[in-house]
Amino acid sequence: MSATMISDPMIISTPETQSTTSSILVAQSEVEFAICECCGLTEECTPAYIERIRERYQGKWVCGLCGEAVKDEIVRSERLVSTEEAMTKHMNFCKNSILQVLIQIQQFI
Ligand SMILES: [Zn+2]
Repeated sequence: MSATMISDPMIISTPETQSTTSSILVAQSEVEFAICECCGLTEECTPAYIERIRERYQGKWVCGLCGEAVKDEIVRSERLVSTEEAMTKHMNFCKNSILQVLIQIQQFI
């Protein structure tokens, strides 16, 4: 009975468990944290994906949600707008929304 009790905690520290941990660490080093220039959201992405987004948005990285909003801004506009112009418009919108939220939070304090 007591022999089984001792062998149980030893299972946790087997080399098998350790190798699983190190493989997770390798996977994590392959992704980078990208911060959205619009809303400040942090996303874990592969460097290749970050590069692709930066190319599309004049060196700036925007999250998936803001990217959709920028595309929407271009589609909704009656005249032809550049990606940069649409992005600036959306960034201002984002900053205003954040400001509104901050004001609301301050009112509660
Ligand atoms: Zn965003």
